[in-house]
Amino acid sequence: MSKGIVHSTEVGSFVDGPGIRFVVFLAGCPLRCQYCHNPDAWQCKGEPTEAEEVLGRIASSADFLKAGCGGVTLSGGEPLMQAEFAHEILEGSKDLGLHTALDTSGYLGDRLTDEMLEAIDLVLLDIKSYDPETYREVTGVDVEPTLRLAERLSELRQPAWIRFVLVPGLTDAPENVAGLARFVGRLANVQRVEILPFHQMGKHKWEELRLPYKLADTQPPTPEEVGRVRAVFEAQGLAVNDGRFATCGPVGAEA
Ligand code: SF4
Repeated sequence: MSKGIVHSTEVGSFVDGPGIRFVVFLAGCPLRCQYCHNPDAWQCKGEPTEAEEVLGRIASSADFLKAGCGGVTLSGGEPLMQAEFAHEILEGSKDLGLHTALDTSGYLGDRLTDEMLEAIDLVLLDIKSYDPETYREVTGVDVEPTLRLAERLSELRQPAWIRFVLVPGLTDAPENVAGLARFVGRLANVQRVEILPFHQMGKHKWEELRLPYKLADTQPPTPEEVGRVRAVFEAQGLAVNDGRFATCGPVGAEA
């Protein structure tokens, strides 16, 4: 088994896939999102960990995760920075009988092999903007690889949740939201859309790292603003929610 750099792990998340999740945050990310919660995970640095060791920790929580209708989510950073390591953890988790999810920006989607997809039950695909210029402003990179991955997942009928962070004054332009909703509405595999309201909980990490934080004065969207964006997605026939509930039943519209 290979080694990789794990930033941190969390047992008991309710917001990273269905049910109760064991989340493995892998280090390294090629994006530089203005609202990133984990800028300390951007560099792929740290003590290498054996995939076997990570799987051992997951195995010790397996019964708890199954009882909570949950599973394992790989997040980051960007887990596809360490695609082989990620694949081993996903395959090992499947062997433990656990549901698996990959939380990705899609920017490195070409590293997601069909074999790797077989070990993934659900892709949480963050589409941070539809408008290419806004996407570059938010992340520092191009949107095209993410949209390409979204279309490939649709062709494969791979279950996906689409996540969109709503940032007032940055991602909330009506034409940006409408364009994304139309794009997602055409996909054949989307079980639901999660609109994640921007918040300031990652701010202190930017300050600790002495990084310039452009969103210091940005306020979270109001419930009315979130409702307006939600309605735009729902008008495309998409199920929209905030993903905060564990469930043992089907989630949203089945793909
Ligand atoms: S993709 Fe995620 S980890 Fe990477 S910069 Fe953006 S928010 Fe941070």
